[in-house]
Amino acid sequence: MTTAEREQGVLDAVPTDLFIGGRWRPAASGARMPVEDPATGKVLCEVADARVEDGMAALAAACDAQQGFAAMPPRERGEILRRAYEVIMARIDDLALLMTLEMGKPVAESKGEITYAAEFFRWFAEEAVRIDGGYAVAPNGQSRFLVTNQPVGVSLFVTPWNFPLAMGTRKIGPAIAAGCASVIKPAQQTPLSMHALAAILAEVGLPDGVLNVVTTSDASRVMEPLIRDGRARKLSFTGSTPVGRKLLEQASDKVLRTSMELGGNAPFIVFGDADLDKAVDGAMLAKMRNMGEACTAANRFLVHRSLADAFAERLTERMGALVVGRGTEDGVQVGPLIDAKGRDKVVELVDDAVQRGATVRLGGKPGDGPGHFYPPTVLTDVPLEARLTCEEVFGPVAPISVFDDEDAAVAAANDTEFGLVSYLFTESLDRALRVSERLEAGMVGLNTGLVSNPAAPFGGIKQSGLGREGGSVGIEEFLERKYVAIGFAG
Ligand code: NAP
Repeated sequence: MTTAEREQGVLDAVPTDLFIGGRWRPAASGARMPVEDPATGKVLCEVADARVEDGMAALAAACDAQQGFAAMPPRERGEILRRAYEVIMARIDDLALLMTLEMGKPVAESKGEITYAAEFFRWFAEEAVRIDGGYAVAPNGQSRFLVTNQPVGVSLFVTPWNFPLAMGTRKIGPAIAAGCASVIKPAQQTPLSMHALAAILAEVGLPDGVLNVVTTSDASRVMEPLIRDGRARKLSFTGSTPVGRKLLEQASDKVLRTSMELGGNAPFIVFGDADLDKAVDGAMLAKMRNMGEACTAANRFLVHRSLADAFAERLTERMGALVVGRGTEDGVQVGPLIDAKGRDKVVELVDDAVQRGATVRLGGKPGDGPGHFYPPTVLTDVPLEARLTCEEVFGPVAPISVFDDEDAAVAAANDTEFGLVSYLFTESLDRALRVSERLEAGMVGLNTGLVSNPAAPFGGIKQSGLGREGGSVGIEEFLERKYVAIGFAG
């Protein structure tokens, strides 16, 4: 089979309609929208383009399924997730190719994401049977407290394109484990991975209506009535902070429970006592994973003056050796950016930094062929007021600034409205603990460039979000605690 035939085979196998009430069906209007390959700009296929009535049908299907699903024994809900985990891992090659076609990242990275995504199902399969409660004696001894956890109810999910599967399973996994039906709207650039996932969940026995997938080119118009409707009790969003703010406002209308995984502006601090090898390895991971298109991506490097030259030189060498190309090709390590808008933003931010005096050590100019390529780029002497250090670059650009003392590094690191993750490299235990405590972030990568783990509580503070996904707290986002006061005569 030729590569082109294999790609077509994977595309042909994925459903492209809306998944509502356990059935694949076209948008009521019949509208379709294109899905493009960011490496070529060519249309891969078309998927259904939902309007408000389709979204409302999906909400109705979730509402119909909610009560029955909440009553399903936890072990059975867990087994559905466990079976889905097995099927995803068995089909990882095809799923990875599909993800690379629609999103652009190299196939090896797609496999990494799919494993990460599937692990949320394995993790929450185990959590489904650990939903606990409590029994307590009132302080005055005259009553008893019974505490139980119940599913929050129908949930609405909106997810971004940068991790097309994992950002979904991080919500769907705990929702199924807790007994919540849901409607998910994946990003319009990358709907195919979510469709493939819905097909797998149906195959392994998820009851009709428990997961509904709505793809649309008109996210705001389709989602707002669902959020304001009041029947859904939970909204979980992953995406940019400006959109998160809007959705929080809409959710306030009916006081929905909300989880918000929003933007980041991660500082990556290398102290003078850091192990340079570890710091460069960590930087490669924190910067280049997903072509820099990650909320956890190191957005600005703050390096102690004593190591700054050596760090810049080593990082430039490593980033300069990366192979850029279409993610489906063997040996490619850096794929295209998601679209022209994403690439234009990187161009703008790099140009702004250069105008303010930054030095280009590597890259710095977009590719001129088809596709949305931007090469690995290293900039030094980046002034802290450059836009590059204040806004998410979402691309393979490493801006390096120098600091002289710990207080200045911490102050610069915290000088942002975001608070998702901070990276810190030092060989001093005291400094590691002291600085970890001072950093304003929901997560700290200490001598590591990777924090994501399904068994850990992922999430941000400040304007990076509300709530946590993963870990033992991940399921709590989908549970309501009920307390029953019991009169007790003794
Ligand atoms: P985005 O523009 O906020 O879009 C995210 C999702 O929201 C997409 O599905 C989008 O639909 C939808 N959307 C946009 N406007 C909407 C509206 N008014 N009402 C309802 N839905 C709406 O973000 P993005 O560019 O896709 O993703 C990148 C951002 O996500 C970055 O800021 C990144 O840091 C953040 N992110 C955060 C995390 C985390 O865990 N904290 C993880 C990954 C990404 P369309 O596709 O139709 O636009």
